[in-house]
Amino acid sequence: MADAFELPRRAMAIFAHPDDVDFGCSGTIALWTAQGVHVTYCLLTSGNKGTHDAKMTAERIAAIREKEQQEAGRRAGASEFVFLRHDDGELEVGMDMRAEVCKVIRVHKPDLVFCQDPWRQYQIHPDHRVAGWSALDGVIAARDHLFFPEQLTNGLVHHRVSRALLFGTADPNVWFDISSTMKTKIHALQAHESQIGDFKRLAERMHAFAGATGTAWGLEKAEAFRYLELA
Ligand SMILES: [Zn+2]
Repeated sequence: MADAFELPRRAMAIFAHPDDVDFGCSGTIALWTAQGVHVTYCLLTSGNKGTHDAKMTAERIAAIREKEQQEAGRRAGASEFVFLRHDDGELEVGMDMRAEVCKVIRVHKPDLVFCQDPWRQYQIHPDHRVAGWSALDGVIAARDHLFFPEQLTNGLVHHRVSRALLFGTADPNVWFDISSTMKTKIHALQAHESQIGDFKRLAERMHAFAGATGTAWGLEKAEAFRYLELA
């Protein structure tokens, strides 16, 4: 599939927590950035509840995780980072969130968006559902000038995203061969030091998952997505 897929000039990954993008699609992102695609990460939360350390504060863990995500992103070739800093675990679908995501899209102008699949059945993490809806609702709002017209000042204009790739999907229709970037994906995941206790086990788990995904398409290692064309 990767051969037939026309690469975007600019892509943006919109997701709930630091590390979501690395579990979901950093193998594909590394593949694309090596070919010159500009990639921005937009995080809805900075994972400010992601710790079991009783002495850790929300502010400190958020700052640590933002740095970890920037390092992980750099390893995969992403070059810009936007942190919306909502509270971890408390994301809700609503017009304020939609407006925020819409504005980020209008500012950064991606041709393609990566996001979590909000239709995935039995997705129990509320933030993962909300991030998927907010990303896609933001994409639709961004494209017409009468949506959030108050944003359109100082030269900012509406912007049309033409394609989306949903990761963490149970219903993929597109896949990319990440055999050549699997090492980079693992390296990116390893940047999330505050979250990962056993790197070796994680690497084994990721190799097994990418291998199982690849088997379905006759590839050694793959990431699979639900692809949407947004005509
Ligand atoms: Zn997450």
